[in-house]
Amino acid sequence: MDHFLYRDGALHAEDVPVAEIASAVGTPFYVYSTATLERHYRLFEEALSGLPHLICYAMKSNGNISVIRVLASLGAGIDVVSVGEYLKAKAAGVPGERIVFSGIGKTREEMRVALEGGIRQFNVESEPELLALNEVAVSMGTCAPITVRVNPDVDAKTHEKIATGKKENKFGIPISRARAVYSEAAALPGIEVVGIDVHIGSQLVELEPFEQAYAKVAELTRQLRADGHDIRRLDLGGGLGIPYERSNAAPPLPLDYGAVIKRTVGDLNCEIEIEPGRLISGNAGLLVSRVIYVKSGEERDFLILDSAMNDLVRPSMYGAHHDIVPVIEPEPGVETQPFDIVGPVCETGDTFAKQRALPPLKEGDLVAFRSAGAYGAVMASEYNARPLVPEVLVKGDQFAVIRARPTYDEMLNRDSMAPWL
Ligand SMILES: *Cc1c(COP(=O)(O)O)cnc(C)c1O
Repeated sequence: MDHFLYRDGALHAEDVPVAEIASAVGTPFYVYSTATLERHYRLFEEALSGLPHLICYAMKSNGNISVIRVLASLGAGIDVVSVGEYLKAKAAGVPGERIVFSGIGKTREEMRVALEGGIRQFNVESEPELLALNEVAVSMGTCAPITVRVNPDVDAKTHEKIATGKKENKFGIPISRARAVYSEAAALPGIEVVGIDVHIGSQLVELEPFEQAYAKVAELTRQLRADGHDIRRLDLGGGLGIPYERSNAAPPLPLDYGAVIKRTVGDLNCEIEIEPGRLISGNAGLLVSRVIYVKSGEERDFLILDSAMNDLVRPSMYGAHHDIVPVIEPEPGVETQPFDIVGPVCETGDTFAKQRALPPLKEGDLVAFRSAGAYGAVMASEYNARPLVPEVLVKGDQFAVIRARPTYDEMLNRDSMAPWL
């Protein structure tokens, strides 16, 4: 559920007409709903109620500082995957003890910054990383709290580019090596073991892979405790999928996901951490765009928009589907027409949808991509020298630009001329 609904024939973001934002900000732009972000966060709170837990929002899905602040003010922790994200979380007001640091390629410099600024835990993904972190912590006269990310060799049944829990993936250490790595960690003076981490992929639409992975984590918890390790936290990752296509069956609800967690690891007396990204931010955002031209081809008609693959890369990168709706509500029963919906970038890959049935649209009309709040703005670029797409946050009847569109001067000034030119 989200807070982007038609009212009096016009698409609204909460209480603000989307067309009003378009007039003020220009197109294309992302718009996020505070109420939707809050609602999704609370669904996880409910799902884990009764267990000690921390919901660590995965800011890689949407890292705007205002978005982070909305969630942090509800008590969320933050999952970061780079020191840049760490600094953004800090800038949004998140204390270090609510930040977990994931990712397979943390540099020593990144470790140092996080140890200095305070960190809840590092989710360590390899033995070389463990040794590096130990070195850095010892050199600083401190001790780094860690979990080890284990790779449970479970098929997440999702898109191959976002599956992370199979043994051929680059993530984590094989679960079969876990006991050896934990005993190695326990012997290091700069390392304090606090738990276990697992994350098997993104946009999972079934619970069964979670169930399999968490059952393996439960078994490992018992083994590691028997080996003498103080396993007191389980970080269970993110990955719950969202309904990108309204016409498809909906993925499992957070409440059912919570039931899997309770059933598999609920009796271990551990603090549960989860790292949802997409499920919190995905349906909380639209990408709003204007039709530049309607072009009739020999075989098909093209809707050429002013947004492109550089603004929203998911369709060209993952073959992802986004529902696309007109901002003016179509009359009931209006006849639809198939369009190929494309952007202006000079690549055939810059195609959002093929033969998508839409009501009649003309030059200047506004359309909205639904479910664009996650992995949208964060993956945007300035390819084709198109200014980075701006972001807007709505709360009730208010809206604010939370990242401005750069001016052409700002864009040009980022390059500099080599002195010999
Ligand atoms: C990407 C990622 C997440 C968030 O995944 P979603 O599918 O957006 O919930 C959580 N944890 C880690 C380690 C990740 O890499």
